[in-house]
Amino acid sequence: ASKKSGRNRFTYYDRVNNADNERRYRLLRQLPQAIADEQLVLHFQPKVRLEDCAIVGMEALVRWQHPEYGLIYPGDFIAMAEEHGHIQALGDWVMQACCRQIAAWRMQGMDVVPLAFNVSPLQLKDCAFPTRIATCLQHYGVRASDIEVEVTESCLVEPDGLSARVLYQLQNMGVHIALDDFGTGFSSLSQIRALPIGTIKLDKSFVNALRSSHEAGVLVTSIITLAHNLKMQVVAEGVELMDQLVYLKTAGCDVVQGYFLSRPVPAQQAEVLLRQGVLEPA
Ligand code: C2E
Ligand code: MG
Ligand code: MG
Ligand code: MG
Repeated sequence: ASKKSGRNRFTYYDRVNNADNERRYRLLRQLPQAIADEQLVLHFQPKVRLEDCAIVGMEALVRWQHPEYGLIYPGDFIAMAEEHGHIQALGDWVMQACCRQIAAWRMQGMDVVPLAFNVSPLQLKDCAFPTRIATCLQHYGVRASDIEVEVTESCLVEPDGLSARVLYQLQNMGVHIALDDFGTGFSSLSQIRALPIGTIKLDKSFVNALRSSHEAGVLVTSIITLAHNLKMQVVAEGVELMDQLVYLKTAGCDVVQGYFLSRPVPAQQAEVLLRQGVLEPA
C-alpha cells in the first residue's frame, strides 16, 4: 500500500512538472516571434523624490501579453531569453519602445521624466551596444538625458573590463547609469566608486527588513550616507509601507519606488501620473 501511495505522489508531481516544462518549452519556442509581433508591452513604475513627492523618473518593466497565458512577468522569460540567445532582440525592443514612448509623450506636449530600462549583463558585454543606443536615440529624436539604464552587479565582475568600457561609453554619451538591486551581490561601494555609476538602487530586501530589524535600519542609513559621500544618489526599491517611507526619508534617501506609491502601470495610467507630476503617499 505504501508503495502504491508513493507512486501516486510521484505521479502528481510529475504531472505538475510536465505542465510546467511544457509551458516553459512553449514560451521558449514562441519568444522570438512574440518579440517580432509586438506581444511585449512595457509597464512603468514611478520614482518619487522624497523631498517633495515629485515624480522624477519612471522605470520601464517588460511584460509579455501572451495570447493564451495572459500577462507574463519577466521572472518567467528574461533568464530564458538570456540562456537561449534572445536577450539582444528583447533588449533592443525594450530600448526602442522606451524611446518611442518618450517621443510620443513629448509630441503631446508633456513634460517627460527620464525613462529607465533594465539591461542584461549580456547586453553590456556587447561592444556595439552604445552605438545601438545612439542610433535608437537619433531615430526617435530622443536625448540621452531622457533615458537611464539600470545594470546589475553581475555586470561589474566582468574580468576583461569590457562591460566597464561600455559603461564609460554610455556615460560619455550622457546616459545616466543606475546600479540595480544593490546589496544582493558582492560588490562594495568602494569598488563601484571606480565606475561611472550615478545612482544605487537599494534592493527591496533591505527595505523589507526595515519592518523587523533594527540592524537593517542602521545598515540602510550607513549605505545612504556612504553613497552620498561618494556623490551617488540613492533610490530605495520595494517600499510597501508608510513606515518604510518615513524611515527612508529620515535616513536621507533621495528617491523611492514601490507598491505603496504605485505599482508598475500601463502607459495610459503612467501618462496620468506624469501629468499629475507628484505622487503623495495616500
Ligand atoms: P528590478 O529591475 O529590480 O525591478 C523591480 C521589480 O520589483 C519589478 O518586478 C517590480 O514590479 C517589483 N516591485 C516594484 N515595487 C515593488 C514593491 O513594493 N514590492 C515588491 N515585492 N515588488 C515590487 P518585475 O516587473 O516582475 O521585474 C522583475 C525583474 O525583471 C526586474 O527587477 C529586472 O531585473 C527584470 N526586468 C524587467 N524588465 C526587464 C527588461 O526590460 N530587460 C531586462 N533585461 N530585465 C528586465
Ligand atoms: Mg530595475
Ligand atoms: Mg531592483
Ligand atoms: Mg530585482
